[in-house]
Amino acid sequence: MRWRFPLGRRRSARWGASSWAAAPLALAGLAYLGGVLAPLDRALADWRYRWPQRDPTGQLVLVAIDRESLSVLDRWPWPRGLHATLLERLFEAGCAAVAFDVDFSARSVPEEDAAFEAGLAEAGGRVILPVFQQWEEEAGGPRLVTTGPLPRFARHARLATINVRPFRDGLAREYRAHEASGGERLPAFAVALAPADLLPPERFEVDFSIRAERIPRLSYVEVLTGSFDPALVAGRRVVVGATALELGDQIAVPRYRALPGSLFQALAWESLVQGRAIQRPGTWFTLAVTLPLALLVMPLYRRAGWARGLLLVAGCGLGAVALATGVQALWAWSLDVTAWILACAGLYVAAVVRELEAQARALARERREARRLERLMRHVVENSFDGIVVLDGRGVVRAVNPAAEGLFGLDAAALVGRSLGSRLSLAGGLHDSLGPVEAEAVHASGKVFPVEVTVRPVDDEGRPLRVLFVRDITERKAQRLALEHQATHDALTDLPNRVLLARRLRENLASAWEDRSPLAVLILDLDRFKEINDTLGHPVGDLLLRAVAERLARLVRPEDTFARFGGDEFAVLLPATDAARARQVACRLVRALESPFTVEGLTLHVDASAGIALFPDHGSDAESLIPRADLAMYAAKQRRARVEIYDPAQDRTSVRQLRLTGALRGAMEAGEIGLVYQPKVAAASGRIVGVEALVRWSHRELGNVPPDEFIGLAERSGLIRPLTLFVLENALEQAARWHRRGMELEISVNISARNLLDEDLPALVEALLARRRLPAHRLGLEITESVIMEDPQEALEVLMQVAALGVGIAIDDFGTGYSSLAYLRRLPAREIKIDRSFVIEMDRNEDDVTIVRSTIELAHNLGLAVVAEGVETRRVWERLRALGCDYGQGYLFSRPLAPHALEGLLRRGSEPLPASAP
Ligand code: C2E
Ligand code: CA
Ligand code: CA
Repeated sequence: MRWRFPLGRRRSARWGASSWAAAPLALAGLAYLGGVLAPLDRALADWRYRWPQRDPTGQLVLVAIDRESLSVLDRWPWPRGLHATLLERLFEAGCAAVAFDVDFSARSVPEEDAAFEAGLAEAGGRVILPVFQQWEEEAGGPRLVTTGPLPRFARHARLATINVRPFRDGLAREYRAHEASGGERLPAFAVALAPADLLPPERFEVDFSIRAERIPRLSYVEVLTGSFDPALVAGRRVVVGATALELGDQIAVPRYRALPGSLFQALAWESLVQGRAIQRPGTWFTLAVTLPLALLVMPLYRRAGWARGLLLVAGCGLGAVALATGVQALWAWSLDVTAWILACAGLYVAAVVRELEAQARALARERREARRLERLMRHVVENSFDGIVVLDGRGVVRAVNPAAEGLFGLDAAALVGRSLGSRLSLAGGLHDSLGPVEAEAVHASGKVFPVEVTVRPVDDEGRPLRVLFVRDITERKAQRLALEHQATHDALTDLPNRVLLARRLRENLASAWEDRSPLAVLILDLDRFKEINDTLGHPVGDLLLRAVAERLARLVRPEDTFARFGGDEFAVLLPATDAARARQVACRLVRALESPFTVEGLTLHVDASAGIALFPDHGSDAESLIPRADLAMYAAKQRRARVEIYDPAQDRTSVRQLRLTGALRGAMEAGEIGLVYQPKVAAASGRIVGVEALVRWSHRELGNVPPDEFIGLAERSGLIRPLTLFVLENALEQAARWHRRGMELEISVNISARNLLDEDLPALVEALLARRRLPAHRLGLEITESVIMEDPQEALEVLMQVAALGVGIAIDDFGTGYSSLAYLRRLPAREIKIDRSFVIEMDRNEDDVTIVRSTIELAHNLGLAVVAEGVETRRVWERLRALGCDYGQGYLFSRPLAPHALEGLLRRGSEPLPASAP
């Protein structure tokens, strides 16, 4: 038996997905919006400037106020006249525009200022001068101050702002195309220097992947002294600014760490002109794209497991970085990827945590289930009706349940730790798997009782154990024995029955064969027991049978089997017994019954007949010996011999019986069966008043078969019904014929006991009478007194119905049974027929006369008419008439005759018949 408990089904993984994904996504979004991720995004963006690198256009030339120029001119600030000379040189070389990243807000030597103003005027608007915005310390706190060139310079030049707005980390990246300055909107430096048709974005980031060091550069002194190739500046734009570190005009930027302000402006100009003004998408836009994308990755985590999930996170991160790099390189967009990376990583962590959580929950659930199961199993074991014993590999008891304690009458302490050998004996020893087998157990009290044991091996984590289920089967066994006894014994006498006798016979025959010893089977049947049963009732019959059994059982040896075969038949199996001994035993048994039994105050005489069959003379198996002993018993009954040993000639009788039974039905159809009629004479008038129909069978080969022989066969074979019908039909047909001829005769028909069990009989009789148009009182039915004993209630019912038709009922063979007249009063009879055995010898036997006389008197007292059967002589008839007998029947008047002979008798019989009798 295996127990199985389903664990609660796991909650669908999809269900909680949105809830557990929300947290990491929200976290990533907030971190991004809150700027926590900005440094990282900056760092990544800055890193992207390293690859791929681009060359400047070469259309912008830097004129550097470098260390060399400073050392040659050996003075600072320089007289402004130098700038005028520089402008002159540059425009001579064909330069398109010049932008100064130099402060012109303060006055200097007036001649120098005048010279520069003149130079600017000469340039005619091709010069750009800077406007700064810078913080200045004042009494009320720092103030943003806009500083532009002196108005005298500004008048001849275009103005542009050169503000730098560093990011929080101090690095300058962003560039604004315009700035408000003193109510005016000024272009930024790079914008002012760019071609007029270029429309710059209002804000952008400088592309630091442009190689600042490759921007063409001339030293200020070089230009001043004219020692440079004019082609270098022809048609190009020029920025003039400090590069010398001493001048301190350095701006912190990505990639280069620091660049001179002029170079920063130059890179801004290159970014614009090359279309590399880098844009960034808005933060909300970034989030709106990033987070849903992260959700798409999520299902992958569930399938991936933690290690591959980690790779997935790394892949997402690297992919994002690569994408951003590509996008920046190709389309000058700078994307923030940290929110995405954080979201992916967060989802990963959430997935891992969730999985761990789910596993922990499942584990806890399983553990809970296991505990519950264990509790349940313990409960089952402890409440089991079977004793359960656990043995280890060496057969030592490890555990027992309460039922086992009860079974052996010992508590667990006395059982555990010991061998079970002295408490339980198994025929074949103890095996790993066994049974169920029967065994014997010993209770503490010493009582040995039967048990049924089942053994099953179990494995206790590598240690082999055996579990024994022990069930007390005392009751079951007792029940089985009782059933067995019931099946093999007679309930009334508790003697062995036919089954047991046959079994013992077979067993004894086997040893008789070996020992070559004889053996006898004896069957004993009580005579006329049925009548005792019928008249005194079954309870009396049963008591008598018990008394008989008791008396007889004492007369056999212990090795003999004395059995009741049912009814009033007993059988004895006599091992090692020859014919002479068997006859001795049978005589002893029969004689033992001679002294009467007293049952319920009644003194009952019982006679018995016995038949014997012997092994090996009469048969060698139960199937032949028992029927032959039976046959011998019947022979004994017929011959009134008490004891008969089987004789093959008896078998010939039974062969004849079989033959007759087989032929009977055909005989009716073949016309072998006919009726004769014996007249019934009234004592008063001496005239024939009726006839009794008697059946005759003249067999083709066996000649005349007496009715006493074949009526019994018909009753036993079930042919009595058609036979009675045959007789009734023929008799009534004859009666109808006589009726038509004006002969007023009553016809009596003999009815067998079995016929009264046929519920259809009354209807049948009624129908037959109706068909012949015969009045019912013309028909009489004769039944023997024992007829209604077999099934009194039902038979009586049928009889009543027939009598109710108007049919006369006569009690036949009166005096041969046990019935008293008082009993007969219950029957709807019209007359009784005194059995011929009392009548025939009436003239010689005064006892018979006495019986006949009292019978006639009693019958008349009950209002019954009396018919005397077997009237053979005139003397007897005279006495019967003197005793008041109403009718006579017998050879004195006539033998049973064929119809035409009877008609002759009737025609002659105008005078009273007794006179013409022989
Ligand atoms: P039963 O009913 O007692 O019939 C009378 C028997 O006595 C007849 O024998 C008859 O021949 C014989 N008998 C008549 N007068 C004398 C006489 O003066 N002296 C002597 N010694 N005998 C006489 P049967 O015909 O051999 O019939 C024998 C029995 O067979 C009948 O006895 C009856 O019980 C039975 N039986 C005959 N026919 C039928 C039948 O159709 N149906 C049934 N169920 N039984 C029948
Ligand atoms: Ca009769
Ligand atoms: Ca009779």
